[in-house]
Amino acid sequence: MILAIAVLAVTIAVPKPDQRLPYVERCYVIGAAAPGVTNVVVQGVDVPVYRTGAWAAYVDVKEGTNTVTVSCEENGVHSETSRTFRVAMKPKPRPADGPPSTNSPPERVYRKLEYAADEARPHPSGKAPKDVTVVIDPGHGGPKDLGCISPHGWCEKEANLLLAEAVREELVKLGYRVVLTRRNDRAIELYERPKALYAVGGDAFISIHHNAPAADRDAGRIRYAAVYSWNPLGEELAKAVAARMDEARHEELKSNGAMHANFAVTRNPEIPSCLVEADFITHPAGEEAAWDAVRRARLAEAIARGFADWHAR
Ligand SMILES: [Zn+2]
Repeated sequence: MILAIAVLAVTIAVPKPDQRLPYVERCYVIGAAAPGVTNVVVQGVDVPVYRTGAWAAYVDVKEGTNTVTVSCEENGVHSETSRTFRVAMKPKPRPADGPPSTNSPPERVYRKLEYAADEARPHPSGKAPKDVTVVIDPGHGGPKDLGCISPHGWCEKEANLLLAEAVREELVKLGYRVVLTRRNDRAIELYERPKALYAVGGDAFISIHHNAPAADRDAGRIRYAAVYSWNPLGEELAKAVAARMDEARHEELKSNGAMHANFAVTRNPEIPSCLVEADFITHPAGEEAAWDAVRRARLAEAIARGFADWHAR
């Protein structure tokens, strides 16, 4: 959805030039100013710059071509960066910003995977951790599937891999056998991810992601953590993980707890599966948190403990 381009003193991420966005009235633009820049003006509006140089602006757009100009002041030197994008359809009212308010189970429609078993895998209670296999899936990867982009132009795929490796470390400390769907920056087809789970006889599956708002939501305001599942089997795991994440989260990150979603990687019908959206890396503070090794380690420990709680139930 968005493209980060480094020009002069700023990186800006806006919809691609000539990209058509349906039903947009306002649009988020994010970026990062060079070190020392404290003053960024987007379409005539002063935008707060975070300690890291990241900023997020929520700007009015109109149907047709829009231009966003970012003005920067650095050591008395003025620079400007412009990007254009197109909004193709008439604006339509959208709900107010914030986490989704409903949490009703999604429609139970799914494509049965040809490699999926028919019977529910028994809960591994009674098994020693060394006999329990957890499959951790760092979302996205490879040159085309970057995931979302942070103000500094970091890709979600990198943040996911870092957090997934940290979760692996914590689970190994607790004695579990852990398999990652990828340990480097490679592309994996969506349905290959659960396939890895079946191939290794995994007892549970946890996909790791970082979030981004829709293009017409305010990236400077939307930030929450959530753990998604699709069926009751996954929901128990999601609840256990979300509860530990809630204990460990820092105050400014809201929690949506355990939620339902019909994601390809969570709808494994007989193996408990959940998807962690750890934070919004499009939010300047969420980006900072995602790249902070101390906070990442704390979050990873929480996810691993949540898994252990589920195992011990
Ligand atoms: Zn993602």
